[in-house]
Amino acid sequence: MVTASAIPKRRRINGIAIESILDFAALMVLFLGVAASTWMIMSSGLYSAALTTFGAFLNWLLFRSLAEIIRLLKRNGGLDYAGRVSGSYFDDILSCGNCGAMLRSDAFCDGCGARLIKPDADNPNDDDG
Ligand SMILES: [Zn+2]
Repeated sequence: MVTASAIPKRRRINGIAIESILDFAALMVLFLGVAASTWMIMSSGLYSAALTTFGAFLNWLLFRSLAEIIRLLKRNGGLDYAGRVSGSYFDDILSCGNCGAMLRSDAFCDGCGARLIKPDADNPNDDDG
């Protein structure tokens, strides 16, 4: 009979992040507020409609801020978080090696017309390591 010992392994359990729910709730609050204000324009006037729109924006801001705080706390604690922290962030783009222009196509450069070579096309047997 084959014997084996139990080895503890770590696996990732995916759950719904509360910051995602807060983002969704913020959108719902904003949508409901704008819908209510468009109804108020016809029924009770422009002033209350503007106040309702402003209140919906403040609710949206509050919910988004709560989601941002949760993201920052999770990031500082080294935990995974859903979405991204607002503000500036870095994005990787491809640029031409000949003229330095940003590439929109993966076949040729719009700036100088150079044909682009795929980096893995030079040595196709190298991907084995
Ligand atoms: Zn170029």
